[in-house]
Amino acid sequence: MAKRVFSVALMGCAALALAACGTSKPGESMDAAEKASETLLKTGGSGDDWSAIGFSYDEQRFSPLTDINDQNVGELGIAWFADLEDARGQEATPVVIDGTLYVTHAWSKVSAWDAATGKELWKFDPKVPGERAVHACCDVVNRGVAVWGDKVFVGALDGRLIALDRKTGKEIWSTQTFDADKPYTITGAPRVVKDMVLIGNGGAEFGVRGYVTAYDADTGKERWRFYTAPNPEKKKDGAASDDIFASKGNATWSDTGEWKVSGGGGTVWDAIVYDKDLDQIYLGVGNGNPWNHGLRSNGEGDNWFLSSVVALDANTGAYKWHYQETPAETWDYTATQPIILAEQQVNGTPTKVLYHAPKNGFFFTIDRATGKLIDAKPFVDGINWATGYDLATGRPIENPEARFYKTGKPFIAIPGALGAHNWHPMSYNPATGLVYVPAQQIPQGYLQDMDELDKRKVLGFNVGTSLNKTMLPDDQAAFRAAVAATTGRLVAFDPRAGKVAWAVDYPAAWNGGTMTTAGNLVFQGTSTGRFRAYAADTGKQLLDLDMQSGIVSAPSTFRVGGVQYVAFQTGKGGAFPLVAGVAGGVTRKVPNLPRLVVLKIGGSAQLPAAPATTLAWNPPAQFGTAEQVASGKAHFGRYCQVCHGDSAIGNGFTPDLRVSATLADADAWKGVLLDGILKDRGMVSFARVLTPADAEAVRAYVIDRSNWTKAHLPTEAAPMGR
Ligand code: CA
Repeated sequence: MAKRVFSVALMGCAALALAACGTSKPGESMDAAEKASETLLKTGGSGDDWSAIGFSYDEQRFSPLTDINDQNVGELGIAWFADLEDARGQEATPVVIDGTLYVTHAWSKVSAWDAATGKELWKFDPKVPGERAVHACCDVVNRGVAVWGDKVFVGALDGRLIALDRKTGKEIWSTQTFDADKPYTITGAPRVVKDMVLIGNGGAEFGVRGYVTAYDADTGKERWRFYTAPNPEKKKDGAASDDIFASKGNATWSDTGEWKVSGGGGTVWDAIVYDKDLDQIYLGVGNGNPWNHGLRSNGEGDNWFLSSVVALDANTGAYKWHYQETPAETWDYTATQPIILAEQQVNGTPTKVLYHAPKNGFFFTIDRATGKLIDAKPFVDGINWATGYDLATGRPIENPEARFYKTGKPFIAIPGALGAHNWHPMSYNPATGLVYVPAQQIPQGYLQDMDELDKRKVLGFNVGTSLNKTMLPDDQAAFRAAVAATTGRLVAFDPRAGKVAWAVDYPAAWNGGTMTTAGNLVFQGTSTGRFRAYAADTGKQLLDLDMQSGIVSAPSTFRVGGVQYVAFQTGKGGAFPLVAGVAGGVTRKVPNLPRLVVLKIGGSAQLPAAPATTLAWNPPAQFGTAEQVASGKAHFGRYCQVCHGDSAIGNGFTPDLRVSATLADADAWKGVLLDGILKDRGMVSFARVLTPADAEAVRAYVIDRSNWTKAHLPTEAAPMGR
């Protein structure tokens, strides 16, 4: 109720002369100059502001600005840039309101800048404990802020939802959103809907139960919570999700199975989108835990709401409908990817639709009013887990070989667990009718061949597949083929035609998110360190700037003092570079230089010279028996590779262990691996799962890898990190 009064008061205020209501203080009614909030989020405004990470509530990442366009975009240069503190992934899209730029960085840090001049206005460091990093599947990243009235909201990796004063960056309130004893994290951006802040969490690789919570924006007090996986006893939680689980959802999960211990997964770690037309919220729900449906739910049931888009009443969080893109999920096919709201003709009728390109490789068009599947077509080549969708039932037509836990045979899936599209934002241009998807090819092997090492542990991934048996092969030809099969592609998808309109191929996966404008442009940074613009209608390349560093984030654009700018962050990170190592191909040699960069026409600022990237290989002598090295490999595959790279090949922002100074010193190695002396940097003790003999075996294996690299890949420089 208070909310409605607030909104009406705000709009009334905006309609008056600014001076008439421009004197309020934080915590009081909003200043008209702090207009942001509801009206701007609903309309997007003139384009001078970029009021939310997705531009507006529709999250199209489309700007109406045309000052920079397909005729002059080649004249873009750097207006200003700022070096950032942490050489970890920078995934946030800058939000710009009234000429102030707000952005988050690795370790959930927040900063505010004069968007035109680059003057830093404030910084906020939530001081996330370093050891939280071991619960982050996919780097200590953060995807951005939400701004509402006089506040800026950020979700911290350790589960705090924090409200900051927009002018000073000082903390106003903080709420712990999950049980910190469990392996949850927050990496996604909060969304503000009416006077509520919504946030989910991650952790479905380790074993948690997903949910989304709405908090009062003024006080941080909980309003409602919706669980996206069932109560372990199939009991009521006293939550908004109780009724739908009791009536239908619980029956889609087995009565026994690992989900009862793990929580089942289904985390909502990115997409939470508000539909202003239908007053409802869409959640993109993640994969199951363990991934393996045979272990998770005895191979029984669809397991609501894993890998689904779920629609909720915006006021109460009550269930409205859901569409499950991957029933009985078993490949880490999350549906957390960004959701775009649009309208299109369907059978001659104007229809409110949502567009979604999740990990599983199909582009979905869904009727927002009903949840009915309108179309599902591949947006990448080579998909082999399913041949398509039955539009009558809405279900995929699966390849039986893909369910590896049933066949007992390995299955090399396309897409793999990193997805045909991961979290990197896509954008939609109403003028071209195209959706610009940062797509990729990263095949992955799945196998259920469970030994003791594969079983659920207190540390590390618990996904129910044999991670330590599906690493890169030693055989040179197979090794090269695996690397070559991993590529990236910018896909311009036409949802009306159900096919790709144009595409740009990249030599490597994990490229940046996209942004599109009425100037007939699409912008994208690449994992190879370029920042590019393409013609939105044809895909013709119009800009190619050297940014020195891998880029994963998406840009935004805004206008201050009549000048249009484009802003983004450089700095690579996230799941793929962590695990992929050499499968990152050429990107492994691209430095990781975390920066905030702002471009304008005629910008003439220069980046400093890029650092050298070559290190000499000087591995310690090999030691240990073949059995010891094999044991080290298995433990490395089980516990280490998800942060230090498949086959110990690093990618420039966690230490490349093959060149680690501790490698030659058994005591130093043990100090890190078992005694946790680097826990404040995220490297906790693994003594709960590794014995001293195991730790020494892992050292023998990494030394073996270092020598192998020197012998087989001598020209492949070890990547630079800080
Ligand atoms: Ca996952």
